[in-house]
Amino acid sequence: MASLAKRSPLTADDDSWRNNLTQPAKDTRYQTEDVTLTRGQEFEDYFLKRELLMGIFEKGFERPSPVQERAIPIILQNRNVLARAKNGTGKTAAFIIPCLEKTDPAKKYIQVLILIPTRELALQTSAVVRELGKHMNIECMVSTGGTSLKDDIMRLYKPVHVLVGTPGRILDLSEKGVAVLGRCHTLIMDEADKLLSPEFEPLLEKLVRHCSGERQICLFSATFPVTVKSFKEKFINNPYEINLMDDLTLKGITQFYAFVEERQKVHCLHTLFTKLEINQSVIFCNSVNRVELLAKKNHRAGLLVLLHTC
Ligand code: ADP
Repeated sequence: MASLAKRSPLTADDDSWRNNLTQPAKDTRYQTEDVTLTRGQEFEDYFLKRELLMGIFEKGFERPSPVQERAIPIILQNRNVLARAKNGTGKTAAFIIPCLEKTDPAKKYIQVLILIPTRELALQTSAVVRELGKHMNIECMVSTGGTSLKDDIMRLYKPVHVLVGTPGRILDLSEKGVAVLGRCHTLIMDEADKLLSPEFEPLLEKLVRHCSGERQICLFSATFPVTVKSFKEKFINNPYEINLMDDLTLKGITQFYAFVEERQKVHCLHTLFTKLEINQSVIFCNSVNRVELLAKKNHRAGLLVLLHTC
């Protein structure tokens, strides 16, 4: 009882800690049912460490989003999870919060491995780990291809509790014996559909085998294509399935599909931009060359273009 009283933030003497937090300005932007249709749970309901609750509230999160309500209690029970939810609905914190709760800063080894397909996303995810865990004394390291291997090796001489990165680099560090994963009890795969593409899948299999035999595996993705199936059958015993995808797009977004010949694409885009009032837009392309070509054409057409490739 004493330890519960010490941990629970609901006891009377705990009230003051919440008032002393520096919270960001309230987010007043319009929210759709994708994030408002909750069961009415509170972060306090999960009996999280107070230091973690402080990080959550200081980030401006008041209540768990629907995917967080479903995933946090299950991940805390050490069950394997397959979670499908739309992008932008809070999946990242849905796995980071229980991972932080289950990490013991007194144990100086890697306890959680978060695999991500791209460097940009790995950096963003590690930033969220650091923000939510800022009162917990947890060391989070991000390690991805395209950066100095030597620097990563040096950083792993110091204790790391949570390792976030792309599969190739982490496997390299693990095979060199520098990243020791034998006691890593939780393996998270974000954007699992991309991680389990033919390019990454063999690396993933090896990495899973490097982790503790008792490891828990949680897959998060907006889509679960068939490629996930064989991995699931091999490695993910009795997963708890969460599916919040009644349709693929966020509510409030209407999709149109223009069926055009390859050579008409740029013209079609140009027509859209001249006929509609578009202040800002994001155009996704499937290759770097295509991004550059489109940027040149749009620039010539008088549009301000910002290039970004992953
Ligand atoms: P996803 O991983 O599903 O794409 P994110 O985790 O990036 O979504 O979350 C989208 C946005 O919502 C981020 O800005 C994040 O900080 C914010 N967010 C996540 N959970 C909550 C919450 N419980 N309350 C308020 N904002 C949240």
